[in-house]
Amino acid sequence: MTTHEVTLIPGDGTGPELTEATRRVLEAAAATNGSSFNWDRQDAGVDIMETAGTPLPEATLESVRRTGLAIKGPITTPIGTGFRSVNVALRYELDLYACIRPCKTYAGMRTRFDKVDVVIVRENTEDLYAGIEYEHDTPDANKVIEFLNPLQDKKIREHSGLSIKPISEFGSERIIRHAFDYARANGRTRVHCVTKSNIMKFTDGLFLSVFREVAKDFADIEPWENLVDATCMGLIQRPEEWDVLVLPNLYGDILSDLTAGMVGGLGVAPGANIGTKAAVFEATHGSAPKYKGQNKVNPTAMILSGMMMLRHIEETQAADNLERAVSEVIEEGKSVTYDLKPHRDDPTAVGTSQYADAIIEKLEGMKS
Ligand code: NAD
Repeated sequence: MTTHEVTLIPGDGTGPELTEATRRVLEAAAATNGSSFNWDRQDAGVDIMETAGTPLPEATLESVRRTGLAIKGPITTPIGTGFRSVNVALRYELDLYACIRPCKTYAGMRTRFDKVDVVIVRENTEDLYAGIEYEHDTPDANKVIEFLNPLQDKKIREHSGLSIKPISEFGSERIIRHAFDYARANGRTRVHCVTKSNIMKFTDGLFLSVFREVAKDFADIEPWENLVDATCMGLIQRPEEWDVLVLPNLYGDILSDLTAGMVGGLGVAPGANIGTKAAVFEATHGSAPKYKGQNKVNPTAMILSGMMMLRHIEETQAADNLERAVSEVIEEGKSVTYDLKPHRDDPTAVGTSQYADAIIEKLEGMKS
């Protein structure tokens, strides 16, 4: 019997109830394949800020470094406290450079699109998110403008604010390689490189040229080159044509919300942040604090993040069983949370925990 050690971070807001539902479901899924988990439960978020003096205690980071694997509930970003976002800190401390967001329609989901089955692979550390910005009319902004203006014909207007977009060969290669590896490991046939390389030749253009080089090492995967604007239209018009999409940070951020919307919204969109030191699995949505403690919100996104974790640790059978159990419960439409019902005030909607029970019941019927 294999036992997997995983750091379990319940988070805050609705995080603890979503995490508890997910933990129970993951144990039932692992049991269908004769394996189990040893959870190292660790705190993070606003609830422990007062006692620990920080929303991300060192013990939590240490645990993720040790296990290399974490599943995490959402965490509120405290505003006006001087603390940086726990999510950003985790990404930075663990070098979580790849953000993976699969978006797939399951029968029974409330969505305008069917036949969507795409995976967004977003670079997480560079691009306009690198945080290199100069506020307009500051001495630093003026200094940068004075330095740049003589270098080109086209001048930057005075009183301009500036955000710098660095994209490196190193950062591009590791995310693109990750996308191709993911495609191969998950039986996918195509990787789309999505950029605006016709306009930003030295950043997006570099990303694309690295893509062309890396693609040569993956003869079994078809490389496609797409512009980001045309991709938005193409995804909506012909969702079935798209497969794995690899994108620089900003386009990845925007398109992962677009594709999440196409498959039914935040409640059902899972995610993973994968890096050189660890992999952290979490839903795309936030802590939805207004529903805290109400046993109401939909745990599908976090449960499907758990399914991604099972695939990551090569518990493929358990992951397949879990996906089947979730899709059956959603398709039946009986024991589902309010947001999966045709009307949000449907009195037959069940709570977070009862929805998890329905999935567990399916999994118990699959035990070998
Ligand atoms: P949110 O995702 O928490 O909630 C927005 C709305 O979406 C909710 O009010 C609810 O109507 C709906 N919703 C979200 N998750 C749902 C679910 N599982 N089931 C059903 N409905 C759901 O977004 P927000 O209000 O902008 O953010 C709240 C806090 O979460 C903020 O502090 C934000 O910084 C943080 N946040 C954390 C993460 C993370 O931990 N990874 C991600 C995004 C936002």
